[in-house]
Amino acid sequence: PEAITVQELANRMAERGGEVVKTLMKMGVMATITQTIDADTAELVVEEFGHRAHRVSDEDIEVGLKREDEDETDLQARPPVITVMGHVDHGKTSLLDALRKSDVAGGEAGGITQHIGAYQVEVEGGQRLTFIDTPGHAAFTDMRARGATVTDVVILVVAADDGIMAQTVEAISHAKAAGVPIVVAINKIDKPGADPNRVMTELLQHNLVPESMGGDIICVPVSALSREGLPDLIESILLQAELLDLKANPGRPAEGTVIEARLEQGRGSVATVLVQRGTLRVGDIFVAGSESGRVRALINDRGERVEEAGPSVPVEVLGLTGTPDAGEDFVVVEDDARAREVASFRAERKKRAQQAATAKGRGSLEQMLS
Ligand code: GDP
Ligand code: MG
Repeated sequence: PEAITVQELANRMAERGGEVVKTLMKMGVMATITQTIDADTAELVVEEFGHRAHRVSDEDIEVGLKREDEDETDLQARPPVITVMGHVDHGKTSLLDALRKSDVAGGEAGGITQHIGAYQVEVEGGQRLTFIDTPGHAAFTDMRARGATVTDVVILVVAADDGIMAQTVEAISHAKAAGVPIVVAINKIDKPGADPNRVMTELLQHNLVPESMGGDIICVPVSALSREGLPDLIESILLQAELLDLKANPGRPAEGTVIEARLEQGRGSVATVLVQRGTLRVGDIFVAGSESGRVRALINDRGERVEEAGPSVPVEVLGLTGTPDAGEDFVVVEDDARAREVASFRAERKKRAQQAATAKGRGSLEQMLS
């Protein structure tokens, strides 16, 4: 190509856009980040940067993006985030459905609900719980692979008539690796062949010692079908959550994780985001993985438009430039320039990582401009 935008050139050199603008200015070229410059000018810029040892590292671009420090006095209790795991057909979906019907805030039980991959339930006493409802383990594994920690508690579902199976073992190791406490739901106790004691004995083989056997693993016999034991299960989860002393600061720009994302006809890219810190609002400018955008609308798990979403609240976000991946971070930033800078840098980094096998070193100008 004969020409390149300043931003694109900056990305390819892994430099900040602002630095390239400054360098151009010194060369007597007045160009904004979105403007196009010709190949000769680009070459001069590349030479200029080539003389410098300085290079913006991946870390630099991320500096200040997330605010890790929190003033203790800003922290407020937040609902626990729970993932249901277990072997296929042991009743994960049934249990999630049953738990969802325990909601006392949503009007009639079983009313029209939106599938957004996560939902929140308010139980008697006014406490709220957030459930991640992404089919299979894939989401959990993907998220862990990306270093995202979204779950506070894992409900391990084990069918009382089947016992511990391959995917149960897998789920146990995921939960252990993530350092997340496990509450065991021994499901299908309504069935004739149900044997909760056998399940508890099997748990021992995986170093999970049930409370009734002197350990610290809470096991709750339940039936997703008859709803027996559900209040006990909810109580056990709340107990675990209390021990974890879960808190977040709602009074700051939002940070969270993408739970699900897809391209929808007529709506554009839509992402379900779990807000983990701060409060997300309509109009906020954000980075989501290597995409960015401005929140056009927020939709809750009941399909209602909302103006904001606080810690542990899952919400659908409209207004993305593209579709991020599940498990990628979602961070509100101060302005559009910052959002695009981080997003395009990350996109470039992804591309570089993909090309790493073939490309050697920094590459020639021809490669950069091609
Ligand atoms: P998943 O694959 O873990 O999501 O399991 P499902 O929720 O799809 O349940 C698998 C099958 O077990 C379905 O036919 C359910 O109706 C049945 N099931 C789930 N929970 C119970 C239960 O508590 N009692 C009985 N009898 N059947 C159940
Ligand atoms: Mg299922």
